Amino acid sequence: MRKALVAGNWKMNGRADANGELVAQVLAGLDAQIDTDSVDVMVFPPSIYISQVVSLSGGRLGVGAQNLCEFAEGAFTGELSAGMLVDAGCSAVLIGHSERRSLFGDTDTRVAAKVEAALAADLIPVLCLGESLEQRDSGEALNVVAEQLRLATENLTVEQIARVVFAYEPVWAIGTGRTATPEQAQEVHAHLRGQLQQIDSDIAAKARILYGGSCNPANAAELFAQADIDGGLIGGASLKANDFVAICQAAG
Ligand code: PEP
Repeated sequence: MRKALVAGNWKMNGRADANGELVAQVLAGLDAQIDTDSVDVMVFPPSIYISQVVSLSGGRLGVGAQNLCEFAEGAFTGELSAGMLVDAGCSAVLIGHSERRSLFGDTDTRVAAKVEAALAADLIPVLCLGESLEQRDSGEALNVVAEQLRLATENLTVEQIARVVFAYEPVWAIGTGRTATPEQAQEVHAHLRGQLQQIDSDIAAKARILYGGSCNPANAAELFAQADIDGGLIGGASLKANDFVAICQAAG
């Protein structure tokens, strides 16, 4: 039985004051509404606020980063290494988010290097995979995500792959208000789990595969009820405490 995970990707949103209120409301949700025996809750604030959120959450929320540099140190102006994220209190890091892939040049090769860097520092990589609308419309969705998964994990050991969390995020559903239907999402999740099965059956059984893309309180329960969907990676709705808490409840 896999424990659900709901992760809030704040993207480049939030300021110090607002973060304090949001975290306080999510913590109140953890106290009163969210079944923490059945769902883990994480937030991914902008890097500059990671220490603030770690301190506000008092260890009750997992805190992760939205990106990392694949190199450990050196002349990489503006970048943050996995070790630095660990020092700031992170336990996880998003890798390969479609905004990083499309806007900041995160190729499959770089994504793979970032996954290795995260694992080397004992950070949980949350590996994002997803097809564009064009790829879906031309019937390539399953092949695209399978290839992204293969390229990101081909140099990893079985033990390393076991530490990866996967997030299926169709690009056409991110921030668009157009959610994948539960059936569309389940089909891809089952395909990804099938691919993990070819690597190792124990990994396939235990891997958490999150859905992301315009997930909200109205559609979360039906998505999370699918056999191979183990929670969600939540963008816009993670900035509204009530919505985020409701989504966490739906996963629990
Ligand atoms: C995301 O950016 O990871 C995401 C899922 O965004 P949204 O929920 O806003 O579609």
